[in-house]
Amino acid sequence: MTDDRTRIAIGAVLFEGNSFSAVRADLETFKRGYLVTGSDVIGGLEHSATEMAGAISACRAAGAEIVPTLATHGGAGGRVSAAAFDTLKAGLLGRLRDALPVDGIYLALHGAMLCDDADDPEGDLLAAVRRIAGSVPVVVSCDLHAHVTARMLDNATALIGYQHYPHEDTFETGQRAIDLLLRTIDGAVRPVMAMRKLAAIFPPVACGTMVPGPMRDLYHDCRAIEARGEALSASYFPVQAWLDLQAAGTAAVVVTDGDGAAAQALAERLVGRIWAGRHDIAVPLVSPADAFSAGLSTDDAPIVLCECADAPGAGAAGDSAALLRAHTVAAPRSPMAMTIVDPQVVIQGRESGIGGCVSGVIGHAIDPAFGAPVRYRGTVRTIIDGTFDYRGGLFGGVRADMGPSIVLRIGEADVLVTSKSFYEHHDEHFIAAGIDVRAQKFIVVKNHMNFRNGYAWAPRMIVVDTAGAASANLRDLPWTARDRRCFPFEDSPEPYGLETWPAGEG
Ligand SMILES: [Zn+2]
Repeated sequence: MTDDRTRIAIGAVLFEGNSFSAVRADLETFKRGYLVTGSDVIGGLEHSATEMAGAISACRAAGAEIVPTLATHGGAGGRVSAAAFDTLKAGLLGRLRDALPVDGIYLALHGAMLCDDADDPEGDLLAAVRRIAGSVPVVVSCDLHAHVTARMLDNATALIGYQHYPHEDTFETGQRAIDLLLRTIDGAVRPVMAMRKLAAIFPPVACGTMVPGPMRDLYHDCRAIEARGEALSASYFPVQAWLDLQAAGTAAVVVTDGDGAAAQALAERLVGRIWAGRHDIAVPLVSPADAFSAGLSTDDAPIVLCECADAPGAGAAGDSAALLRAHTVAAPRSPMAMTIVDPQVVIQGRESGIGGCVSGVIGHAIDPAFGAPVRYRGTVRTIIDGTFDYRGGLFGGVRADMGPSIVLRIGEADVLVTSKSFYEHHDEHFIAAGIDVRAQKFIVVKNHMNFRNGYAWAPRMIVVDTAGAASANLRDLPWTARDRRCFPFEDSPEPYGLETWPAGEG
């Protein structure tokens, strides 16, 4: 140690798994998001909107010494290769071991990662951190869609979540985590946690915290609990919906100052509120044909078509051509912008050059389980390297990489064809491709919630019902692991309790 400042180790390992997705994640996937180690965690992320930037800012404000380990976000997909997870875990643990002794540890995790050989890799990581660090306080922040497990809670001093969906508060989450950690180290507070989990899952497209409904009410409930001083933190985790795991459900995690009974009672109250509002956590899903027809019945433009089933940010492949197929039938004369991941079509288009004519089939090349390719004939309008900078959200300030990409004009549709899937925030990708979204009659977005902010100016938004690994039509997916009653597959006036933590209490 070179001085007597409080030493805080920080790190981040984020990835959202999806049991129904064929998209595989390896180390390259994480590098395309961000993957930095040591002092590059500070240099690479301090000006971003990530949790690490918030943590760095809070540590500096408090005069604490920052000990960076490893920080990465691989976005979302199916499962992470065991080799990639082992490399990330070893990288973080090795740097943590070298940094000891520290006074506290802050880790930003997603909380819903799936690996080849592990359904709870975050629990595994936290157990390893605890083994290395002993009794040092460990504060963990998770994505609001975390699959919070007993093993994670067993090995954390306190666990908090993003408060907002869309996730526009990652920076503030890092700040809150560090504030709680520093107060714990100082002895000003003594965090005690409780979790209550329901056997209930909800389509994220219906779970916004900034639109009227039960999730926004829950957001306000939690802030009121904190403001009254009843809890240090009250968090809700309406879980990544597409985890085909017995233990996946909607959780509330409450951290109080030394009062375990109060934490349990508050967590119970919060999941009770969710259960009471369960029927109101829904949005209408419209068939592609009806969505185009509704759009054509008005002069309003653009009409935002949300194809959430194919959202890469929820783990889907981003390769659906379902709305391109529907457009050619239902609205062929209307300008439309959309994205499709199809590396072969990109290669073909780049070989033919700008202005070149290409034809063949497009779409459903990555995850053929959810649709058949569409036959097309198009003209190459633009060729780009596929990078852009996110202007906000959980990757705010980070560079995106869609891989080599082209814009294909197919009829009246401008299709941004990319080599890789990418997290969709607002319209940064369309801007990078030279597509003017305001000139369109239809804009296809492939995310569950960010569009509500990004296209708040658009006169109409329609959530379209297509097939995909992130379908809001949860009943359509091939669940295999579910062995108990779970909303919305079953329903009851009494909540389906799934798990309590500490075990057996409550
Ligand atoms: Zn999330």
